[in-house]
Amino acid sequence: MLQTIEVTKTSQKKTKPNHSELGFGKFFTDHMFTMDYSTDKGWHSPRITPYAPLTLEPSSMVFHYGQAVFEGLKAYRTADNRVQLFRPLKNVKRMNLSNERLSMPEIPEDLAMEALKNLIEIDKEWIPTEEGCSLYIRPFIIATDAFLGVRPSSTYKFMIILSPVGAYYNSGEQLQPVSIYVENEYVRAVRGGVGIAKTAGNYAGSLRAQTEAEKLGYDQVLWLDAIEKKYVEEVGSMNIFFKIGGKVYTPELSGSILDGITRTSVIELLEHWNIPVEQKRISVEEIFEASERGELEEIFGTGTAAVISPVGKLKWGERELTVGNGKVGQLSLDVYNTITGIQTGTVEDELNWTLKID
Ligand SMILES: *Cc1c(COP(=O)(O)O)cnc(C)c1O
Repeated sequence: MLQTIEVTKTSQKKTKPNHSELGFGKFFTDHMFTMDYSTDKGWHSPRITPYAPLTLEPSSMVFHYGQAVFEGLKAYRTADNRVQLFRPLKNVKRMNLSNERLSMPEIPEDLAMEALKNLIEIDKEWIPTEEGCSLYIRPFIIATDAFLGVRPSSTYKFMIILSPVGAYYNSGEQLQPVSIYVENEYVRAVRGGVGIAKTAGNYAGSLRAQTEAEKLGYDQVLWLDAIEKKYVEEVGSMNIFFKIGGKVYTPELSGSILDGITRTSVIELLEHWNIPVEQKRISVEEIFEASERGELEEIFGTGTAAVISPVGKLKWGERELTVGNGKVGQLSLDVYNTITGIQTGTVEDELNWTLKID
């Protein structure tokens, strides 16, 4: 039986920011969801309370040994004023895969779904209505034992917070191509490690390469496989696609790549459109050779935040290439318009990806 979520509403609603100042992840709604875990009770005390700071022991295990997993998805306001989510059960399932890898307890899928739906329902007036804006949803789990020995924690907190976010691309503008630095020194993840999990430490480990790439004038880093440093893995916190000679390629899930929900959706959409798409090991050398043959048509990253992020330039050691003619490709645009259209209800959801929650 599903546990009842206890609700305490705030007595003081915050003023909502103007959509032009939203940006990403700066503002938080009036409420949050919390639920606790202990080995003897399992997950218990699900509750929605006013958004507020936490009190934790400085010895809480999450601060020392990094048992922390998270998810990221969005709620959209449709043209006919409904609220919908994009494939949310996939996020819940992936969160449990991350939990498993980090020796953290699984969360019942139906309870996590109820928590998401109830919290968003309560704070739905925070979903921005302006084009391209949405409500970013951040579920996360942290280890809370007050203990400094190294072992899995026996207590955890699962929380969900909500943040209204602005348009990734300014309205009226086309998608903006990014420049990418192929990272040759640092690596993100290795097969057998935690690259397949959405865990905090993967991000901590990626910051230095990102900072150095920015210093050199590039927007983001393209990660290579950690062993041979030959094969493409992903870009920043996005999966990556290449269109070469009419066919689309994306790195296969190698055991060190994050299995993106946008990635899966793009693959399914291309198959639906009868555009050939293949998941395989792809070397950077192949990409540069395709470019030299004039066959490299498009490159784009995929992820919840941007949906599609076209790549305009790739720098690899001394070599540099420009994708297509430096402009955003037609396939990138079509995929972007279709997925964002489905998310906001302006394009028919033929593949049944959305979940209406009010
Ligand atoms: C979250 C994430 C992605 C994108 O996943 P989506 O489910 O499409 O948002 C890709 N790579 C990494 C490393 C990520 O953390």
